Amino acid sequence: MSSVPSDMNHEKTAVEMVGEVPRAVFGSTFTEHLASITWDDEVGWHDLEVGPMQPLLLHPATAVLHYAQEIFEGLKAYRHTDGSARLFRIQDHASRFSDSARRMAMPELSAELFTRACVELVKADVALLGPRPGDGLYLRPMLISTTPELGAGRPSRSYLFMVIACPTPANAAASAPTSVWVTHDYVRAARGGTGAVKAGANYAQGMIGQAQARAHNCQQVAWLDPVQREYVEELGAMNLFFVLERDRSSHLVTPPLSDTILPGITRRSILTIANDLGLSTEERPVSLAEWERLCAESTIKETFATGTAGGITPVRTVQTVRSEWTIGDGVSYPISSLIGTRLNELQSGVSSDAHGWLTSLGT
Ligand SMILES: *Cc1c(COP(=O)(O)O)cnc(C)c1O
Repeated sequence: MSSVPSDMNHEKTAVEMVGEVPRAVFGSTFTEHLASITWDDEVGWHDLEVGPMQPLLLHPATAVLHYAQEIFEGLKAYRHTDGSARLFRIQDHASRFSDSARRMAMPELSAELFTRACVELVKADVALLGPRPGDGLYLRPMLISTTPELGAGRPSRSYLFMVIACPTPANAAASAPTSVWVTHDYVRAARGGTGAVKAGANYAQGMIGQAQARAHNCQQVAWLDPVQREYVEELGAMNLFFVLERDRSSHLVTPPLSDTILPGITRRSILTIANDLGLSTEERPVSLAEWERLCAESTIKETFATGTAGGITPVRTVQTVRSEWTIGDGVSYPISSLIGTRLNELQSGVSSDAHGWLTSLGT
C-alpha cells in the first residue's frame, strides 16, 4: 500500500489518549495502526500487514471513487472485567461481511482472515483501549475496489481490505433519548437492492433523509418500507424495537428481516437477551399508523433503536408531516435501560458469556 506523509494524518495523536478514553466525538479519533490485506485476481488474498495509520494514495480513476464499490463492518473489542480485551460476536460480523461482499460482487474474505486482521489490530493498539470494563475499541473493517479504470461493467481486478479503530468509552445503559422525523419523501433501501448489506452507498443516498430530519429539528430519520411507505423499518442506521405492555408484562416487537432491513447483530443479541429475561418477542411489521395509535393508547411504552456504535437509543418524540407525539412518559425508559444493562454486562464480562459471544485475542 502506498502512502503520502501528511499532516492530514490523525489529527489527535494517540499519545494524548493513553490511559484514558478520549471525550472526542465518536469516530473522529483513531488509534495508531492500520491492518490491511490486499486481493488481486492473480493470487487472491495476500499480505496481512499491520502498519502505522496513514492516508491512502489513490489514482483518481480508482473504481471505488466512481462506482462506490465499498462495504464495511462495525464491531467492538471490549475491556473485560478480567482486564483482557475481547471481541464481541466477531464470527457474526465476519459472516455479514461476506454477505456484503457477495452482494456487491466483491471477493469474499474468510472468517479466519477477517478475524486475524481484527485481532492483530487490537493487539497493536490495545494500550488505547480504556481501562474500565466495557470501554471499547470500535473497529471499522472495510473493503474497496482499487483498480484505476473507468470501465464500469468490468469487475475490479484489485481490492484492498483495511481495519481501523476508534477508542470509545463504555456505553451507558441507554443513550440520551432521541427525536425522530419520519420521511415520506425518500427510502433507504429498495426491494432487490442493497439494504440488507453494509454498503457505503446505502449511507450516501440516505443522507438527504437525515438532512430533512435536521431541518425539522429532529436528530434521526425514520425510514418507511419502500413499497407501501407504510411500515416503519429502521431509524437512521439502527434497527428498531417497540415495547408493548400487555397484561402487565412487556412484549418486544421488531420488524422482520427482509432485503430492506439490515440484519443488525445488536438486534439479534437483544432478541436473545429478551428471551433470557423472560420477555416475549415478536418479529412483525409495524405501520406508522399503528405506532402512533398504540402510543396514544399507552400500549407502546417505549421505542428504542439499536446498533453497535450507540448501543441502545430510546426514542422520545416522533414527528411526521401530519402529526407529532411523545412516546411513553417522555422521561423514563426502564425496559430500554434493562436490556442495555444486560447487553453491557455480557459485552464486558460482568455476567458470564452464556452465549459464546466473546473472543479473546489469544497469544
Ligand atoms: C450497521 C447497521 C445497523 C446496526 O447493526 P449492528 O450489527 O447492530 O451494529 C442497523 N441498520 C443499518 C442500516 C446499519 O447499517
